[in-house]
Amino acid sequence: MLSSRTTKGQPSPRRLELVPDRGKIPACAQQDCGHRCCQFEQGNFIAIYPGELQEAKSLGYKLEHLRLIGEDTHGGQRAVCVASNCADCDGGYKPLDCASYPLFPGGLDDHGSVARMIRGEKCPLQETDFAAHLDWVSSEWSRICRKRPELAHWVAAVDLVGYVPITNGVERER
Ligand code: SF4
Ligand code: SF4
Repeated sequence: MLSSRTTKGQPSPRRLELVPDRGKIPACAQQDCGHRCCQFEQGNFIAIYPGELQEAKSLGYKLEHLRLIGEDTHGGQRAVCVASNCADCDGGYKPLDCASYPLFPGGLDDHGSVARMIRGEKCPLQETDFAAHLDWVSSEWSRICRKRPELAHWVAAVDLVGYVPITNGVERER
């Protein structure tokens, strides 16, 4: 796993934001889903927000497992993943879309905070399985979108495959 150290020997908080374990949901271990969230046969893709891969590359993360299949019309990119070990993304960068799965922000409020959430239909988890994850996803996307207000347009416009509004947690509906 990639990590970095400060001069005092402590892990760098900036770098730790991007480790493959981020967004891990403990309840996944009880599912026999075959990591279906890492499979891309149904026309789905990883939504890469504008500038995400450039940032990961500048931090030294491996990106070879991510195969770009196009750009969206709002400055982001679409990718599929060819990692052979989904448990650690082949030691490479785990996009925020992946770390957020099965959740994704469905819209932001006027301050850039996540106001609605949607979820991927192919994940077998129940909403009660990911209450803590919902808080993490909401907080992480809100943090990034408040830091980069221009991402609000991308979040509102990105077109995902196989997502539905959630019925619990942050305000529903997309
Ligand atoms: S980057 Fe990691 S989480 Fe995302 S599809 Fe690839 S293996 Fe799965
Ligand atoms: S997030 Fe859902 S689809 Fe992905 S490993 Fe966990 S249970 Fe399976």
